[in-house]
Amino acid sequence: SKPIVAIVGRPNVGKSTLFNRIVGDRISIVEDEPSITRDRIYAEGEWLNNHFLLVDTGGIDLNSEKELKEDIRRQAEIAIDEADVILFMLDGRTGLQPMDREVANMLRKSGKPIILTVNKVDYKKLEEEIKYDFYELGLDDPVLISAEHGLNIGDLLDEVIIHF
Ligand code: GDP
Ligand code: MG
Repeated sequence: SKPIVAIVGRPNVGKSTLFNRIVGDRISIVEDEPSITRDRIYAEGEWLNNHFLLVDTGGIDLNSEKELKEDIRRQAEIAIDEADVILFMLDGRTGLQPMDREVANMLRKSGKPIILTVNKVDYKKLEEEIKYDFYELGLDDPVLISAEHGLNIGDLLDEVIIHF
C-alpha cells in the first residue's frame, strides 16, 4: 500500500491550503481507509511518480483552548502512529508558539521522519528574517514554503519522497 504522509500543526498554519495544493484536482477522498475519522481528510498525492496518501488533520471547529490543545496532541499521536512521514507545519509569520514546542517534543521522540515546514514565507526578504527562528526545536533545517503562493512546494516534496 501507499506510504502515508500526515500534515500536523496548530490551526491556521496553512495545513489545508498545502493539502489542497498538493492533491490538486486529485481530491478523490479515500473513504475505505480504516482509520478514517470525520476530522481527518485523506487524498492521493503524487510527486515524480511517487504515489502517497496525504492526510490533512484537525478539521473540526473546537471551542475552548483546552479542547484545542488536546486535539493538537491527539492529531500528533495519530500521525506518529500511522504516518510514514510527518510534515510538521509552523507559521513563519507568528513564529514559534508554546504549542509548537510541545508538538515538536512529541514528534522528536517518535523517531519518525519529520519534515519541519515553515509556511507563509511569501517573499524572499521574509526568508532571511525567519531562517534561524526554528532551529531551537532540534529538528532538521526547515523547508520554507508559501502554500498559498505555491513557493518551494517541489523542494518540500523532494524531501518527503526521500523517506519512502
Ligand atoms: P489550517 O487551519 O492549518 O488548515 O490552515 P488553513 O489552510 O485553513 O489556512 C489558514 C489561513 O492561512 C487561511 O486564511 C489561508 O489563506 C492562510 N494561508 C495559508 N497558506 C498561506 C501562505 O502561504 N501565506 C499566507 N500569507 N497565508 C496563508
Ligand atoms: Mg485545516
